[in-house]
Amino acid sequence: MQHIHNAWFIKDIVKVTEDMWLKGWNERNGGNISLRLTQKDICSYENDFYRHPRFLETTRPFKELANQYFLVTGSGKFFRNVMLDPEDTLALIQINEEGTGYHILWGLHNEGVPTSELTAHLQSHITKMQVTNGQNRVIMHGHATHLIALSYVLELNYASFTKQLWEMSTECLVVFPEGIGIVPWMVPGTDAIGDETALLMKKHNLVLWPFHGIFGAGATLDEAFGLIDTAEKAAQILVNVMSMGGKKQTISTNQLIELAKRFNVTPLAEALAS
Ligand code: 13P
Ligand code: ZN
Repeated sequence: MQHIHNAWFIKDIVKVTEDMWLKGWNERNGGNISLRLTQKDICSYENDFYRHPRFLETTRPFKELANQYFLVTGSGKFFRNVMLDPEDTLALIQINEEGTGYHILWGLHNEGVPTSELTAHLQSHITKMQVTNGQNRVIMHGHATHLIALSYVLELNYASFTKQLWEMSTECLVVFPEGIGIVPWMVPGTDAIGDETALLMKKHNLVLWPFHGIFGAGATLDEAFGLIDTAEKAAQILVNVMSMGGKKQTISTNQLIELAKRFNVTPLAEALAS
């Protein structure tokens, strides 16, 4: 039996939480992550699990996720501290058979609780498991500075918002051809914002929470991180361009179409048309 601290999923989440902190997206306890794990991922570490795991109820049933395992960040925990004390800041949870709650199998050893955005994560996992045939494993939330800044000045329309980001760097359309969804401003930590986010996750891998932050989805922590990083960089370029007086020239719609052909992606039609 190996120690869970050496598990790939702990090493990877420690790395990504540090990277996100260094990017400036996760001040204080800002942001949260969930990574879906399989029985195969966790079976070598059962010796490290609690003998009497705590059980917590979810705010609503998650029958579709019965018996699934998730590694999640804790509510109120600082990303910059995950590397110092994974056992205090993270939790490995298993949803129960009825989907009415979960056991904390490992972590959050100081009586902490999983992220307050757990509903947004679990609802989004349900959607993504369906639309990606189980490939998607990660939901990631951060307070990406320039994406938040843009939510104050661009129209909150997913099609035009997407196109403006695509124009800011040639790689963008290739990395997120399905564009960025936008929820209206809503109170965080509620089932309602979780439902709205999950609905948009059917079509997009990025969902913007105006004046708050971004949700990203991916098959791996690297993919979700890379996706947010790419969109956030485009947002930073746009902020710079706007600060310098605005665009004088840009990538044309026809050029975006050529790009999509070369890289064999299907760009969001509404964005191309905007
Ligand atoms: P948690 O600390 O509960 O994960 O909340 C952070 C956050 O970003 C809420 O949107
Ligand atoms: Zn947040």
